[in-house]
Amino acid sequence: MALSQVFGRLIGVREHEVDPGGGGADRVPQPVTAVVVGGGIAGMSAAVVLAERGVDVTVLEAAPTLGGRLGAWPEALPDGVQQNEHGFHAFFRQYYNWRSILRRVDPDLAFLKPIPGYPILSERWPTEEFGKLPPAPPANLLALLLRSPSLRLGDLRGMDRDAALPLLTYDPVRTYAEFDDTTADELLSSLKLPDRARAMLFEVFSHSFFNHEAEMSAAEMIAQFHFYLLGNPEGLAFDCPDEDYATAIWQPLTRHVEKHGGRVVTGAPVTTVSRDADGWRVATADGTSYPAGHVVLAVDPPALAALVAASPTLAEVAPELAARMPAFGQAGPPYAVARYWCDGDVDPGRAVFSGVSRQPTLDSVTLYHRLENESRRWAERTGGSVVELHAYACEPGVPAEELAERMRAELIALWPEAARLRVRELRARVEAQAPAFTPGSHAWRPGVRTDAEGLYLAGDGISTEFPSALMERSAATGILAANHILRATGGAAEPVRSIRPRGLLAGRG
Ligand SMILES: Cc1cc2nc3c(=O)[nH]c(=O)nc-3n(C[C@H](O)[C@H](O)[C@H](O)COP(=O)(O)OP(=O)(O)OC[C@H]3O[C@@H](n4cnc5c(N)ncnc54)[C@H](O)[C@@H]3O)c2cc1C
Repeated sequence: MALSQVFGRLIGVREHEVDPGGGGADRVPQPVTAVVVGGGIAGMSAAVVLAERGVDVTVLEAAPTLGGRLGAWPEALPDGVQQNEHGFHAFFRQYYNWRSILRRVDPDLAFLKPIPGYPILSERWPTEEFGKLPPAPPANLLALLLRSPSLRLGDLRGMDRDAALPLLTYDPVRTYAEFDDTTADELLSSLKLPDRARAMLFEVFSHSFFNHEAEMSAAEMIAQFHFYLLGNPEGLAFDCPDEDYATAIWQPLTRHVEKHGGRVVTGAPVTTVSRDADGWRVATADGTSYPAGHVVLAVDPPALAALVAASPTLAEVAPELAARMPAFGQAGPPYAVARYWCDGDVDPGRAVFSGVSRQPTLDSVTLYHRLENESRRWAERTGGSVVELHAYACEPGVPAEELAERMRAELIALWPEAARLRVRELRARVEAQAPAFTPGSHAWRPGVRTDAEGLYLAGDGISTEFPSALMERSAATGILAANHILRATGGAAEPVRSIRPRGLLAGRG
């Protein structure tokens, strides 16, 4: 354990148990049926916990492959089939709940390899290194302030320290009451940071939540600073699978669910969810109807709103859920992912993953041929490289190929040698399914429990009472949904964990 973590523990920056789990039988005492709609992280996390407790669970996933926004699928290239993915993901170490699900298929998490460093690139300013800070606060914050080339002591004097206080006083109730109607942009401006520090330290961070600062709630940004930096004992360093997500995660998790008697059905878009005197019914596009005692809707926000709108009886049995959907179903801005298979490589010293600041489109660069085994083998065979470019919140209405080309041109401005890469193949996509965290959204954001008995929600747009985000929030809400079902049917619940629940200076609340 690093010194910063020892000190961090003394002031409560450590793993916390927000639900000890237990309280019931290892296997549910009576037959229980559940249908989980959506086979991404949220749905599969719920299914894993339910299947292990003997619940007769069926996952219905619309796409031909599992994983949703962490999906992977075979891509036919002229020189053979390669796995393609929905995009690079950082598996942070404070993702306690997601990691506990992944431990089911690899108890040591050996498939997750540490990524050395986390540089932020800019055309105007020197590279900033995030991944090598001490892991725990307050040492990480002090090191950031002392070491960062973007912040000098003189700058700190010019900064509005009172405005910065909310970052250190995150409270799951008060922060939203005070800051949910303010935008992240307004909060950042009030700090009076030098432009360089704002760009290199703060903007990159807020972009990673798939929202523009001017459209994102300041309370959500404070919550995410707390989750990733100021309340997190594990540091900003992260790990990544060394195999594609289908091989490393989805195939083994499917086998795990099936081993415990559950079913995973892909290519099964759910069209309606209804309830009658006999319980819930979930219908798929091919006309099959699945009866269930309990239902978990673990789909992305626009899909949830569409499903609720297509299920008229839900407005009667869950009026509050239905009323929240028009606002909740508005996705955040589009995001773009472009994977390039190229002849030639960039300089050997380039990092596996780099964040990018203040380019109009490009937000990150990943060198897959230095990350995943299949891409590595392809590169060794061809002498080429596999480079993935992301834009996390881009201009709407621009075709994927155009965004890919803009990102490639912006990469060349940062890494001139990238101009020498000859593009062999490109797979480019633009999609909009990420939750929007607009100002005021906390008031209508649904939680895991709905107003209909036996109907639960899970996903990265669903609110939790403890700090969580992105993949970790999906896994945590999936587990919470399973726990509600288990507690209602006599099964033992799963423990749920979190980082320090409140800010370092938040008092005891
Ligand atoms: C490019 C990119 C990079 C990212 N990087 C990171 C990162 O570095 N770290 C991080 O923590 N997070 C990252 N994320 C976010 C992360 O991917 C998501 O938070 C997480 O995967 C969401 O999982 P989910 O299960 O909540 O939703 P989804 O993955 O959206 O799963 C929902 C599933 O429901 C299915 N579905 C929808 N409608 C229906 C229907 N009617 N019937 C049946 N099935 C249906 C969908 O097909 C999908 O499989 C990234 C996301 C993207 C797009």
